[in-house]
Amino acid sequence: MSKFTLAIHGGAGTILKSMLTPELEIRYKQGLQEALDAGYQLLQKGGNALDAVEAAVCALEDNPLFNAGKGAVYTHQGDHEMDACIMDGRTLDAGAVCGVKSIKNPIRLCKSVMLHSGHVMLSGEGALDFAIQRGIETAPDEYFHTPFRYEQWIEIRDSDAYQLDHRKSAEDSPIPEGKKFGTVGAVALDSFGNLAAATSTGGMTNKKYGRIGDSPVVGAGNYANNQTCAVSCTGHGEFFLRAVVAYDVSCLMEYRGYTLAQACEEVVKNKLVKMGRENGLIAVDTQKNYQLCFNSEGMYRGIQSSSGINHVAIYGDHD
Ligand code: ASP
Repeated sequence: MSKFTLAIHGGAGTILKSMLTPELEIRYKQGLQEALDAGYQLLQKGGNALDAVEAAVCALEDNPLFNAGKGAVYTHQGDHEMDACIMDGRTLDAGAVCGVKSIKNPIRLCKSVMLHSGHVMLSGEGALDFAIQRGIETAPDEYFHTPFRYEQWIEIRDSDAYQLDHRKSAEDSPIPEGKKFGTVGAVALDSFGNLAAATSTGGMTNKKYGRIGDSPVVGAGNYANNQTCAVSCTGHGEFFLRAVVAYDVSCLMEYRGYTLAQACEEVVKNKLVKMGRENGLIAVDTQKNYQLCFNSEGMYRGIQSSSGINHVAIYGDHD
């Protein structure tokens, strides 16, 4: 019987049941389930892992609740600069974009970069030129305007502070009080035994100077290799860059012979805890093992697999 599986995340952090209204919890879970279904349907039809992670991440990018695509946070200049990466575990091909504006689905652009640019990573205006040439959908500034993200930015725009996707919640804000990372990602194993990973983010509110995080960097926030695993991360990018987190998980499997679970445990629950960081990652291997691993209170996450699992969750337990 063919085996396939898809895992997704929509960010990790201080996410407690007491912070979300029942209505908001439903909206998050619906958003996660829709993204899971979008990718899983492709896998069920015999589609490949790369297309499945792209479809799942596109659905999350289209949902304003998550900090990617439509829901991307505001930069210091008051616009949106997005980072994303996709990687094919079969070939180790990768495509990434950083600091891109006006792209409706940055993950689609990443796939096009991988397949058609002859490069791995494109940035800023050059990436936009390439997108236009390839017919990738763009969107006007208004598309990326979400009132609660705007308020997040207004609170700190006159300071030097930058922050992850967290804030004290306003009355009308769907973002709960506390600290959370809203980056989105997906990892998949397809029925041909191939792995893929995709990650997309708006980065940090009020970020300056063209700041780029870990999400578009191969091996830091995103990685896939059929020899080991596919990984997508969420957390404070500066630390993930320094700890080369996604590749570290893969290396522990490749060079130390760790299982997927051991490798994720070591990196998330040991190394990153020692760095004092709240964060999480999702990972799958070619044996259909999966990990939705985090050291924070919660992580927006979901898993669906050919063994019949279909589950979305938010908090530290099974919920
Ligand atoms: N890793 C992302 C960044 O630092 C943030 C996140 O995970 O939400 O840009």
